[in-house]
Amino acid sequence: MVKLFNQILNFIYPPICPICGEIVETHGNLCSMCWNKFNWISNPKCFKCGYPFPADLDLGNRPLCPHCASGECELDFVRSACVYDDVSKNIMLPFKHASQLKYQTLMSRAMINCLRDLDLDVDVVLPVPLAYKRLFKRGYNQASLLARPIAKYFNANLDVDSIVRKYRPDMGHKTYKQRHENIRGVFQIKNAANLQNKKVLLVDDVMTSGATFYELNRVLRKAGVSAVYAVSFCRVVHAI
Ligand SMILES: [Zn+2]
Ligand SMILES: [Zn+2]
Repeated sequence: MVKLFNQILNFIYPPICPICGEIVETHGNLCSMCWNKFNWISNPKCFKCGYPFPADLDLGNRPLCPHCASGECELDFVRSACVYDDVSKNIMLPFKHASQLKYQTLMSRAMINCLRDLDLDVDVVLPVPLAYKRLFKRGYNQASLLARPIAKYFNANLDVDSIVRKYRPDMGHKTYKQRHENIRGVFQIKNAANLQNKKVLLVDDVMTSGATFYELNRVLRKAGVSAVYAVSFCRVVHAI
């Protein structure tokens, strides 16, 4: 019955690639041509923070980047679906600023895929909060939209109100150090009881310097969470 219903639905609304409009098999999927344009992050990568290594390096089962090997990464695990480049930017920015919500399914699916190898146990999925001023202007928090299907996949609570974010001017075009300083103290825990002893997965559309995830990790640890993971759709990859 469900199959028949889907067949009728697909006849009326054929599934199309959200980027180029080509007919595809499943709603929300990319066609193979568009899929191949992305720089998806696969192995080898840092087992802890997901930093992609050059493809021809054989570093064993659970390689670590220098940052993680020296114990500097305080998050338990970080993963990103793809590298931030012109291709990923061209869907990430319209999704974030121009209500191009047709990209939501492909983005959240790619994020779920990049977490599969970790086999995580997640209690709470926490989209990176937006300051009220921004939320009011934009009408939606893009991270919350991505987090919803991810929470469903993990059978975890979607938490959009335990942490609030104070408004600060845009961090664009600032140095790594300035980003860290600018974000310090920006998040405030409203409901620590919801988070205590919980394993929390942070969700954002893009990871730039990692400053946002690190700062959230700092306040979450204070609130007594037992693990912090983070996932983003794309990630700015700096040379290390
Ligand atoms: Zn396409
Ligand atoms: Zn690492």
